[in-house]
This record gives sequence, C-alpha cells and structure tokens, in this order.
Amino acid sequence: MEKKINKNDYLKRKYSKLAKINKEYLWHPFTQMQDFLKDDPLIIERGKGSYLIDIEGKEYLDGVSSLWVTVHGHQHPVLNKAIINQVKKISHSTLLGISNEPAIELAQQLVAITPYGLNKVFYSECGAAAVEIGLKMAFQYWQQCKNPRPEKTKFLYLQNSYHGDTLGAVSVGGIELFHKIYRPLIVNHISVPAPYCYRCFWGKNRSSCAMECIQELEETVKTSHHEVAAFIIEPLVQAAAGMIVAPPGYLSKVRELCSKYNILLIADEVAVGFGRTGKMFACEQENVCPDIMTLGKGITGGYLPLAATLTTDEIYNAFLGEFWEFKTFYHGHTYTGNPVACAAALANLTVFEKERTIDKLQKKIDLLANLLKKFENLDHVGEVRQKGFMVGIELVLDRATKQPYPIKEKVGIKVIKEARQKGVVIRPLGDVIVLMPPLNISEAELRRLTKITFEAIKKITEG
Ligand code: PMP
Repeated sequence: MEKKINKNDYLKRKYSKLAKINKEYLWHPFTQMQDFLKDDPLIIERGKGSYLIDIEGKEYLDGVSSLWVTVHGHQHPVLNKAIINQVKKISHSTLLGISNEPAIELAQQLVAITPYGLNKVFYSECGAAAVEIGLKMAFQYWQQCKNPRPEKTKFLYLQNSYHGDTLGAVSVGGIELFHKIYRPLIVNHISVPAPYCYRCFWGKNRSSCAMECIQELEETVKTSHHEVAAFIIEPLVQAAAGMIVAPPGYLSKVRELCSKYNILLIADEVAVGFGRTGKMFACEQENVCPDIMTLGKGITGGYLPLAATLTTDEIYNAFLGEFWEFKTFYHGHTYTGNPVACAAALANLTVFEKERTIDKLQKKIDLLANLLKKFENLDHVGEVRQKGFMVGIELVLDRATKQPYPIKEKVGIKVIKEARQKGVVIRPLGDVIVLMPPLNISEAELRRLTKITFEAIKKITEG
C-alpha cells in the first residue's frame, strides 16, 4: 500500500528542495550572498491583501509593500481581472511606431492626474529607465530647442539621492555605499548638500534652521547654471537614503530657483508617487509643476513592471522635425508600453477612484503618526521620520551624540529578522528601519505592524 505523506512533511520537503536550488542558482539584488547562503530563505508563494504567504502557508504582514510597490494589496480582484482580460486579447505588441489601446488610455489618464503642464508620456519598465529617459530628454532638449544651449550638459543632484542603478541614474546618485565604486564609469555631475535635518550639514536643528541648504544651492546654481541642463530631485522624501523628509517649502524653493536660472526640474516620483506621501503625487503637496516627472513602482498597483516619464509640450516640441534633422528621441525599450502592464496601471487608477484610496488614507496616516510616537521613547531611536505612509526609524548607538552603530553590528538586519519571526516583513536601509505599508492596510494591521516593529527594535537594541 502506498504510504501517505502528511501535508506538513510535503511542504517541508518542497521548501528544502526550493531553498537548495535557490542557493545554488539565484543571485539576489542588493543582497550579500555570503550571508544569504547562511540563512533559510523566505520563499513567498502567494499574497492576499496586506499579507504575503510563504510556501509553507505562514502569513506575514507586508510592511514595505514588496519594496514600495503594492498599493491596494495583493490579489485585488479589479487588478487581477484587468490583467487576465488583457492577456486574453494580447500580451505584447511594440510601441515603436505602432500603438495599443491600454497604452493610449493610460497616457491620457496620467496626464490628467499629474501636475499641470505635463502633457506627454514616455513609457519604460523600471524607475531607473524612467530616470535615464528624463536625463536624456533634458540634455537633448537643450541641444535642439529653439534657442539651443549646447553647453548645458550637467545635472544637479542632492547628496544622499537615489535614482536607480543604471549608469545614467548612478551618475546622479549620491549614496556613496551604492555609487562610489562605479564613479570611474560615469560622467561627473554636480552634487549639493541634501536637507537631512537630523544630521544637518550646517549643524542646525529644526528651530534654528534658516534653510541654509537652499542658500548653498542658490550659490551653486549661480555659478553653474550656464552648464546645468536639469536638477533632479526626489520630491519631499529621499527614500533610499533612509526616508529623509525635506523641510516644508524646500521643494517649492527648488522650483523657484530652477525657473529663475533656466534649469529644468526633474521630479523623480518613482518612490513617492501614487499616494505614498498622502497625496497622489508629492509635488502636489507644494503645488510644484516639474518639467519632467518620473513614475514607477506603484504605477501598476505593484503588479507588473512599468514606468513612465512625463514632460511638457515645450520639451516634446523640441524633438519635432524632419526625419533627416535627427531630432528624434532615440530611446526605447523592447517592452515599452506593454499592454498588460498598462492595463494593470489603468485598473490601479480605477481602484484609487472607486475606493477613494487617498481620502481614506488620511485617517490612517494620523493613526500611524500616533502609533509611532512611542518609538521616540526607545533608547536607540535617533529620529522617527514620517511623510504620509513613508516611515524611517533611524537607530543610533548613542542618542545624545547621534553616533551610528558600527556597521559590523548589522543592527538594521537583526531588527528585521526579529520582526520576520513574528510575522512581519520589513527591510532596512542601513540602520534605518523602513515602514511603507500598502495603502489598503487596515487600522488593525497597522497597529500590528507597528507593535511588532517596536518590539523587534526594543529587543535588538535594548536586549
Ligand atoms: N528613483 C527612486 C526615487 C527610487 O526610489 C528608485 C528605486 N527605489 C528608482 C528611481 C529606481 O527604480 P527601479 O528600482 O524600478 O529601477
């Protein structure tokens, strides 16, 4: 008689087999594989709402929206249906010279919801590509606009900024840990001190701040504007740097300076877009209209890879001309404007509207702010930063001196491992613990997320 295997044994065996193959063949992004090989990997099989479910059936709250992408939760019926319906029609046809229905409709809707003046949409598949496209557009614009300024070949960017991992995006990246090694491969652009208020470059605090960062920026702009094509910025929150929230008014001051000195403004909303800061787009918070805006991550509700670079008629028109004038924007990826991804993005916008996601979010943002208050009492929490649903909890060895932990202590990693044991998936940025839950998260889930994170930080930092 055939011996029956019980379900748990079966799942355990399945897990062991997959974990072994994983370690043998897979190279994970932003992951020290030497460490990864020592642990039992978490292998996700399914998702439901705010939860991730591993192949043995254990549930985890998705505390960072699967790397800042999930918007309305996993397995949302409207998104699922839209994708399935589109697959039944066609999964891909090129956007090089021909078009498709979802790409057209989405372009119209993106123009309608983004800041005034952004009237043209150029698709790609990831945030880094959207940034590359924005940089190339800005550069080429100055080469061939009505009054060309060919000497405008540089970009201004903030220290600590992160715009993606391709070489163009790295050239405007200011996180030494990620970017330094690649410097010999890239063109040098111009960096300016970022508004990192907790570790203010000028030694100021919030009450003594006179926006010295803006004054310094203006000095740099005054001397360099003739060679600067564009300023690229993550509006309101420098996300990968550790959820660093800019002081109110900073973004609008940047816009003013760019206009005054004839510099294009590229707003990289890849991380902050689609509701994360509490409005659909971060630029809305300060009524800023950039010349170029990049979107990614949440654009498909976290379902499929899609990104977009939006720009103005003024920039678009500079690319018009006869074929032989070579004003064409010579850029395009194989999957540009993929209809399934665009259908997912359209469904994402439908859900935003039908479920009044942004309206409902406001109460949860306030609740989150309340729940975060007690973190400030922990001995090793240096600063708790929050903008909407983006949270960074900076852990330090010494609160008085703001001295960071030695890197070898891997405190951030220890905290997230502890949280994972308790059923929460989060990911740190160094020793900054990040929370960025999906916008659909319930109040009860939000309480659970913060409770487990609090306990994990306490246990690891206070023992
Ligand atoms: N810009 C910003 C502001 C980002 O945070 C990121 C990714 N974290 C990117 C660009 C790059 O996006 P992707 O990983 O999709 O290439």
